[in-house]
Amino acid sequence: MTTTRFAPSPTGYIHVGNLRTALMNYLIARKAGGTFILRIDDTDPERSKEEYVDAIKQDLEWLGLHWDKVERQSDRLDRYAEAADKLREMGRFYEAFETPTELDLKRKKQLNMGKPPVYDRAALNLSDAEKDALRAERGNGVWRFKLDHERIEWNDGILGDISIDAASVSDPVLIRGDGQVLYTIASVVDDTEMGVTDVVRGSDHVTNTATQIQIIEALGGQCPRFAHHSLLTGPQGEALSKRLGTLALRDLREQGVQPMALLSLMARLGSSDPVELRSDMAELIEGFDVNRFGAAPTKFDVQDLFPLTAKHLQSLPLSDVADAVEDAGVPADLAEPFWAMARENITTLADLKGWWELCRDGAEPLIADEDREFIAEAIALLPDGPFDGETWGTWTKAVKEATGRKGKGLFMPLRKALTGMERGPEMAALLPLLQVIRARG
Ligand code: GLU
Repeated sequence: MTTTRFAPSPTGYIHVGNLRTALMNYLIARKAGGTFILRIDDTDPERSKEEYVDAIKQDLEWLGLHWDKVERQSDRLDRYAEAADKLREMGRFYEAFETPTELDLKRKKQLNMGKPPVYDRAALNLSDAEKDALRAERGNGVWRFKLDHERIEWNDGILGDISIDAASVSDPVLIRGDGQVLYTIASVVDDTEMGVTDVVRGSDHVTNTATQIQIIEALGGQCPRFAHHSLLTGPQGEALSKRLGTLALRDLREQGVQPMALLSLMARLGSSDPVELRSDMAELIEGFDVNRFGAAPTKFDVQDLFPLTAKHLQSLPLSDVADAVEDAGVPADLAEPFWAMARENITTLADLKGWWELCRDGAEPLIADEDREFIAEAIALLPDGPFDGETWGTWTKAVKEATGRKGKGLFMPLRKALTGMERGPEMAALLPLLQVIRARG
């Protein structure tokens, strides 16, 4: 059975980059009728915060990316310790004592000699007595996984055939000196024990994948299918890493972005399929194929979310936005006609308030000098209320007959006088709302 996971570290709010990972894994699981796990990668007790765990859940729920179960790495430390023991017994795990400064120096020397900066495995030559002495002096060492120096190959769902020479990669540290288990092994143990079949993540993980494949094999597990999506850049191709802080999902929500707009964009951006607004999750799932994504960096422009949001809102019935309409101050008996008028004219739900204020209070009329007389004549012809959908038509017909004006010369001055704007809602829909309000008070 297909099983995927989204595995954020709860060290911050999730942003559009993380969303891509979450969404792809979610859609793969749902399309296959499989399981989607939310895995909290909280092995770092200092940086992991409970408030971020809650925030991640809220953000996923807002988007409708519901998970089937939650796993927490901090609950599974004994499983990782067991795996580490196994690697130790197999002779694939060794303790190393270099300080960060020493490692840095080694790297610099290698680079100077034109060699790749790969850990030289000096620790493998330490005798037990030397290790004891180092431990006494420096405390526990880090534990590194001894890679087999062969090519590591896999068929990546996005990048295609990958082949990495293990000798070009440093033996990864899996356990830190203070005993903290690192993600590289924790993730492998989890993926294996939880039956994860498909792993989609960012292309910054490609080297991790190479080492993890060897760790999975050493522990006797089954390798999942891997796919590495490209990283997002800004609209000009600039690195997004620094701006991701302002592209947190909660910021987008604050700005009025609608979940379906965001999901529709992210499920297609960087793929060979066009971005299309989807009406619901079922449609998104149906149209999703991870293999259609490309390896090139993907340009993301937050502005693209607003036309999609506007389009999505236009398609919604009142029942989907009733709370927002009420919050804008619209009385219940006007909610239906108000929404019918307003939804064509908003970008986000935050714009409702302005339209309601226009209906309630009217606008500062915009009347050109040459239209003054015309407007006065037109106002005199305004029928008695209550107004309905026909009123605009009947009224403008009467005004046309009385004044001889037609077309733009007829409609535009009326629109500007009533709304203070040159464009906006259909007047036939707006007029009854204006009238009712005036009648009320
Ligand atoms: N916690 C890891 C991260 O956020 C998970 C990576 C993965 O999907 O394996 O980068």
